[in-house]
Amino acid sequence: MKITRLTTHLVHCPIPERHRVRSGAGLKLARQAAFVEIETDEGISGIGPCSFGSASVDLFIVRSVVDRAIAPMLAGRDPAAIEATWNEIYYGVVTRVLGHRGMGVAVLSAIDIALWDIKGKATGRPVYELLGGPTMDRVRCYGSSIYWSSPAQAAASAREFLDEGFGAVKLKVGVDARQDLDSLAAIREEVGPDVDIMVDANQNYSADLAIKVGRELERHDVLFFEEPIPIDDVDGHRHVAQALDTRVATGENLYTRWGFLPFIERRAADIVQPDASRCGGISEARRIADLAAAFHGYSAPHTFSDAFTVMANLHVMAATANTIILELDRTYNPLMIGLVTEEIRPVDGYLELPAKPGLGLTLDREFLAAHPYAGELGISAGGRPAVGMASEVLADRAARDLQALA
Ligand code: MG
Repeated sequence: MKITRLTTHLVHCPIPERHRVRSGAGLKLARQAAFVEIETDEGISGIGPCSFGSASVDLFIVRSVVDRAIAPMLAGRDPAAIEATWNEIYYGVVTRVLGHRGMGVAVLSAIDIALWDIKGKATGRPVYELLGGPTMDRVRCYGSSIYWSSPAQAAASAREFLDEGFGAVKLKVGVDARQDLDSLAAIREEVGPDVDIMVDANQNYSADLAIKVGRELERHDVLFFEEPIPIDDVDGHRHVAQALDTRVATGENLYTRWGFLPFIERRAADIVQPDASRCGGISEARRIADLAAAFHGYSAPHTFSDAFTVMANLHVMAATANTIILELDRTYNPLMIGLVTEEIRPVDGYLELPAKPGLGLTLDREFLAAHPYAGELGISAGGRPAVGMASEVLADRAARDLQALA
């Protein structure tokens, strides 16, 4: 079998105003994603997502990198040689030109996932079986997420997740430490002691504030504290992780095994959160989970973009014994329901293992044609400096967000 063609699909779905949510990552305006489709001379094709959920980025860059740098390299190759292809792209265009984190690794992720999809379809097996799984009968998921709102609204949102069958929910914090904790307390009171609650600061606290908030998280028996502080501060994470009983989780903004390695070996994170559509694909997400396992750590994949990303992460999880729970986006997201013909529906907070070969998904081409990307912004704010009082920075950002909407 030989690779014949690579096509980049770009999708844009505006979020209606009433469904827009705000977190420490900004105000989401649209759901967007890029997918690479790899075709072969035997009629089998695979699809891999390179997705940033909604991002302040020009997705045409993905198509440009694929068309100019990667497609010529892959033409005529055996799609089964995933490891060799991964290495060639990584040590070629990624590390030398695009940089070892960010867009280049995300594009590599899409290629890797599409190749696994092809390998599964060619052998008639779901990807998790090719990776050595299954290690579980079904995949536990948590509802993502309860966004910035009043404590009463947060408790009501938590109740909706429970009514949907979830036994685990995540709360977004980082707006204002007092309000964050009031919301957490309201949620715990609403759901009782048996529901798992995760808390995600999207890098919005300083280490001092994270420890202060973290002591309260301990009282509410929070399962993990996600991205408490800026991702570049490995020692800061270590400081927070050592100060708290609550587990520290991070990884949605880390790329490749080398990005995760210092957090794992320095015990700066108890739980790693690789996302297959960013961190280097299914191959690399597997390696990262294994790296954590070598240090008796756990993995809980980040997924917040589209059905292909969820399924790529689900296959890795189903094949790795130390992966404990999968994020499942329950916000307004046509990329979870309209983009593919299959339905991804959790039952009692669990997803079934897919039986179909490959990723087990079929792209809906009518949906694709109806939602073209034309350079629109996906989220209204970029990064932020690390400061002690997150609320001051966020007041500025909220003003910017409103301007962006005007
Ligand atoms: Mg997160």
